[in-house]
Amino acid sequence: MKKIIDSHMHISKWGEDNIAFCFDTYRSEQNIHAINICAIPLCQSNVCNNILTGFYKIANPNTYVHAGIELIEIPIDNMTENMDAVTQYKELMEIGFDGIKMLEGKPTEHKRIGKNLNHPSLNKLYKEMEKDGAHLIMHVNDPDEFWDLKRAPQWAIDCGWTYTDGTYAPYEQIHKQTLKILEDHPNLLLTIAHFFFCSKEPEILEKLFEKYPNFCVDLTPGGEMYVEFEKNYDYYKSFFNKYSDRLIFGTDRSYMGDKKYADWLFNVVTTFLGTDKEVVSFDNKALKGLGLAQDKIDNIFFANFEKRVGKMPKKMNKTKFKAYIEKYSFALTENDRKNIKALMDKYL
Ligand SMILES: [Zn+2]
Repeated sequence: MKKIIDSHMHISKWGEDNIAFCFDTYRSEQNIHAINICAIPLCQSNVCNNILTGFYKIANPNTYVHAGIELIEIPIDNMTENMDAVTQYKELMEIGFDGIKMLEGKPTEHKRIGKNLNHPSLNKLYKEMEKDGAHLIMHVNDPDEFWDLKRAPQWAIDCGWTYTDGTYAPYEQIHKQTLKILEDHPNLLLTIAHFFFCSKEPEILEKLFEKYPNFCVDLTPGGEMYVEFEKNYDYYKSFFNKYSDRLIFGTDRSYMGDKKYADWLFNVVTTFLGTDKEVVSFDNKALKGLGLAQDKIDNIFFANFEKRVGKMPKKMNKTKFKAYIEKYSFALTENDRKNIKALMDKYL
């Protein structure tokens, strides 16, 4: 296998073993050149998730991390004036994080924060990031069938990811808010995860690619995307050829996730994108590889990502990282503080 950067991974929990080694097997077994961890403090232990992934980055320099921000408008942690979104963004970038990840557009989080994606404090953040040329990865929406109990897959129902009780924003509303971000910030270096859940309406992406030169999507499953790729194989073959400079490889592998499933998923996605062989895909049917030319495979597997965030991950500034931990330690639980203290003693 040629060079690969996995642009979309997570560390969600404290493990029993040392988190510094949690992706070693993946890196060596699949010969992964670099990885990018998306911290999602919004749904995973607040600023603790930024801190945890920051330590991983210090212990593994060949790692990119996109950190998350907290909104002070949501009174969850007594955040104060000097903790607005733009301030947090600046702090995170100065520490040495490589970009920002937002989960605010996932229907569950969108409902919980009760704020539109075009909220003034977020608008200020996009504006600043657009000016700096900083990379933003956003998860917005979910597959449209999650708004319809008759079509929603059982696993989504089990995860509580169905949005039919009237308390969640409709798919179209979140979609429109996202388009507005691009209208207002046309040069924002924005990557939307999971193909923007547009595999049934790829013409939406085509229009956005034509209009916004810095707009990309990642190819992290959602298995439903790969089923659509299979159904409309000829169309998608030319789509991938035409837009290989807008598509970014990722797997959503997480620590501590199911390794067997993650390995299977990696094989499906890399076979489809990187070869012309057949592989049994998410619907248990054969999915034929796209047979792309090597330069196009390279775009998807690493070059597009490197163009957006640099050929080397940024170096962590330990002094600034320490100051960040101190500033936000009020938002940590006792257990998190204890675990972080142990990592500080070891790495800072
Ligand atoms: Zn993810």
